[in-house]
Amino acid sequence: MDTTWDCIVVGAGAAGLSAALVLGRARRRTLVIDAGKQSNRHTDGIGGLLANDRRPPPDFYATGRAELATYPTVRLRSGEVLTGRRDEAGFVLELADGSTEAARRVLLATGMEYRYPPLEGIEERWGRSVFHCPFCHGWEHRDQPLAVLDRGGALMLTAWSDDVTLLTDGPADLTSEDRGRLQAAGVAIDERSIAGLGGPDGTLTAVMFTDGSERPLEGLLIPVTLHQRSALAAQLGACTTEPGPLFSDALAVDAKSATSVPGLFAAGDAAGVMPSVANAVASGNTAAAMVVMSLMTAPRGLAASAAGLGATR
Ligand SMILES: Cc1cc2nc3c(=O)[nH]c(=O)nc-3n(C[C@H](O)[C@H](O)[C@H](O)COP(=O)(O)OP(=O)(O)OC[C@H]3O[C@@H](n4cnc5c(N)ncnc54)[C@H](O)[C@@H]3O)c2cc1C
Repeated sequence: MDTTWDCIVVGAGAAGLSAALVLGRARRRTLVIDAGKQSNRHTDGIGGLLANDRRPPPDFYATGRAELATYPTVRLRSGEVLTGRRDEAGFVLELADGSTEAARRVLLATGMEYRYPPLEGIEERWGRSVFHCPFCHGWEHRDQPLAVLDRGGALMLTAWSDDVTLLTDGPADLTSEDRGRLQAAGVAIDERSIAGLGGPDGTLTAVMFTDGSERPLEGLLIPVTLHQRSALAAQLGACTTEPGPLFSDALAVDAKSATSVPGLFAAGDAAGVMPSVANAVASGNTAAAMVVMSLMTAPRGLAASAAGLGATR
């Protein structure tokens, strides 16, 4: 019996589940392997996802999994892919439990690690009262006293509240022009050095300063950078894009969602798609269609590039 999957999707977040749905509907033998750490899993609701606005992420992922269960060629497996290599038929992935799985194509939907500033009190408030995306969480904090650690976000945050403070965490090197623009937009500038955040049960009631003073606050916008979660893509030989202000090392993909490695595709945050659940769903959908196309136009086991598909770089 041929135990080689048509495609292994690594990751069952929005991108991976969306991809698996398309693969299942195209009757491709698909294995989804997931470590269960979707980046928004701790938040109260998904902001801005049509037909699912403010839906708790666990519900959303459970529904996605239930939909996959109706397609007989799709299998979901919990676990973490530790290593991967290419072979003649395609790819062999090794899981943390020591087992291996082989596939003709691999679609990486592994998400990204969001790294934020080392400020005391962020972790327990992350994705709730402390957030990186005003489009995701701004509505829930509308008209509240808000602050921002990233001067680039200060003006934008005034779309959600008239009470916005830029926290510079020490004397700021703002030009008089910068200060003028912020003041004109009604943004206060607080240059005290920050000691940490306060408030019970994941709420935010104040930012505390090193001089013992504090400022009342209910929401804080912070800058983040996104990083590959593991060395898996690098082991498989996939190239990354140049580091930018948001993505440190997104996988380089072409218009067909193909990475630089023939037969290896990527979708969602990992592929540098503008981070949102809606975009991850769309990107998984597209990538899966490209996987199906490469499977149907290339003889079994033949690399996608040999059929004129695959990476362009
Ligand atoms: C705190 C927070 C709040 C957010 N809130 C919103 C919001 O309200 N609205 C919105 O639109 N967007 C929001 N986002 C952004 C959104 O969640 C992401 O853009 C989107 O979920 C990315 O989906 P993904 O499938 O690419 O990755 P993920 O959802 O991160 O899923 C990747 C999956 O792959 C698995 N995985 C990774 N490596 C391996 C491996 N080696 N083996 C097996 N499995 C692996 C992970 O465990 C995970 O389950 C938020 C992000 C964060 C961090």
